[in-house]
Amino acid sequence: MRMAGKTAFISGGARGLGEAHARLLASEGAKVALGDLLEGEGRQVVADIQEGGGDAMFVRLDVTSESDWQQAIAATVDRFGSLNVIVNNAGVSGYGLVEDTSVEEWDRVLDINAKGVFLGIKTAIPELRKAGGGSIVNISSQMGIVGSPMSSPQYQSSKAAVRLLTKTTAVQYAKEGIRCNSVHPGPIFTKMTEPRRADPEVYGQMLAAIPMGRYGQPIEIANAVLYLASDEASFVTGSELVVDGGWTAQ
Ligand code: NAD
Repeated sequence: MRMAGKTAFISGGARGLGEAHARLLASEGAKVALGDLLEGEGRQVVADIQEGGGDAMFVRLDVTSESDWQQAIAATVDRFGSLNVIVNNAGVSGYGLVEDTSVEEWDRVLDINAKGVFLGIKTAIPELRKAGGGSIVNISSQMGIVGSPMSSPQYQSSKAAVRLLTKTTAVQYAKEGIRCNSVHPGPIFTKMTEPRRADPEVYGQMLAAIPMGRYGQPIEIANAVLYLASDEASFVTGSELVVDGGWTAQ
């Protein structure tokens, strides 16, 4: 069991990649807390994990709200006793050109994808410190590393912010044994990418941009999260783990 004795909090854990992280970490012995806006889906994931013999809880969380974060982390520590890992996974997408992007849309995406990660880190650090150290895993994107005509200014900027916020956190807290790394998925089969996959022209353009010629599966990202969350990555901090089928290698 690679996560035995650890408690992990996962934002956006009700579906998609967050669900995959939750199920995998729980299967490796972690007690997992899922925070999400989608209460029905989140509670179903918790029920499934518990049916399989794992320990899990759901908490309603809007990642843009600092008070939600404080309540969510407090509830996790109340239930499980400590916090060792946080996976900042919740996010939304966005597509379009700079000149077509409204200020409201820019603010919405940056609030969820960048401020949401900042608040997750900020709230978790005192608890990770109390536990004697821990691991923060932030889900960025390959879109946070290179520009793309198939994304948007708000999405790419938010994911680039996560990449550097990760490194800032890593160097500020390294001496306390708190590690912080980012994961950069390429296109993955989740609800987020459903609309793009439904358009044959866009789907074809996306596939053409992936050297491996396919979308990834959520478990292929969860495996990277598991590694960074576990003690196997004990000397890894400030790194960016790219899991993108070769997108950024070209
Ligand atoms: P998804 O839409 O399937 O799931 C996202 C989850 O985040 C949902 O459960 C949603 O309810 C939750 N969420 C959204 N806004 C929230 C908020 N304000 N507060 C709390 N929860 C909120 O998407 P996914 O594909 O699973 O994406 C997960 C993460 O991975 C995102 O950060 C996304 O940007 C990133 N990512 C995804 C892909 C991909 O191709 N799917 C690629 C690179 C990066």
